[in-house]
Amino acid sequence: MSRLSTRARFLFRLLQARRRRRPLTLSHLVTSRCDGRCPTCLWRGRTPGEMDTSTVRWLYEEAGRAGLAHVVVWGGEPLLRVDLPALLEGARRAGMATTLISNGWALAERWAELRGLVDVLILSLDDTGRAHDLLRGLPGLFERLESFAVDVREDPLRPALLVNTVVSRENRGALGRVAAAARRWGAGLYLCPMETGEMTSRGFVAPLAGLALPPDELRAVAAEARALKDAGLPILNTCAYLDLVARDPAIAGYACRAPRAVLTVQPNGVIRDCVRRDEAIADVRDLRAKGAPLASVFSLPRYRAMVAASCSCTACNNPDVVELSWLWDLRPAMLGKVAELATR
Ligand code: SF4
Repeated sequence: MSRLSTRARFLFRLLQARRRRRPLTLSHLVTSRCDGRCPTCLWRGRTPGEMDTSTVRWLYEEAGRAGLAHVVVWGGEPLLRVDLPALLEGARRAGMATTLISNGWALAERWAELRGLVDVLILSLDDTGRAHDLLRGLPGLFERLESFAVDVREDPLRPALLVNTVVSRENRGALGRVAAAARRWGAGLYLCPMETGEMTSRGFVAPLAGLALPPDELRAVAAEARALKDAGLPILNTCAYLDLVARDPAIAGYACRAPRAVLTVQPNGVIRDCVRRDEAIADVRDLRAKGAPLASVFSLPRYRAMVAASCSCTACNNPDVVELSWLWDLRPAMLGKVAELATR
């Protein structure tokens, strides 16, 4: 299927998901193991235990049956799962488009098994050269990424390639370098202010607050991204998002729709309550054991309470949440962006 028809189908399924009041996307942290050592990561080593292959395939089959159109596979580092091709193949078979987020360390070795199973590949890239290797704790990583990106450009089964750049005190000044690398690779770039913490039953807990850029610097980075975008570099954040960050780096001026649009499952099978992440909505392994469909989750009072609470929550500042919320609300700028992505 061409990228254009994939995007048209995506838009159709977005409208369907809104009508049915069900999420569009399954966000699945397949593992919390990682070979990187990024200081800004909130997720590495968080949850012991992973669902086995057959349970993940059951989850994907159920998600497809419930009308979810898309799975985002991340972690931890998903390439550490030897069964990753079987999982992605299960997602495809369930009718879902696939996005894989990776640090890229093992991509070249594993690409032969993965090609054709990934629609969108997102590489985490916070700087270039040795500075990126140091941030990840993986010497030689940037060189691996550069060589993979060049090789994959010629691949007829090339996925849409994006890079995700988390800005923090750890990579001040990196944006221009990363944007140039993205252009060389034929990739789009998402700029993400670092996530410092998360909502819990005790309120917002931010163990990494000390690594975030101060508001004035974040404002300046957003303005720099806007200037790079205007100069033709492949920054994918919308102007509306960058202008919002430049105006209000605390990013409080949006209505969150992320829990409506995305169902998040942790490596151990816990279905995450977005506004109380230390508590579970349900557990995929229990659902499977009881023979209950995944769709039964959407009528749980706990699920509905999360969706209701999200309308007044602005704890998150990244474009995944803010722009997704705008997409869910069918803002014209976001619909235009989906069309733009189809041509990448
Ligand atoms: S802003 Fe949205 S995605 Fe973030 S914690 Fe609140 S409800 Fe969840």
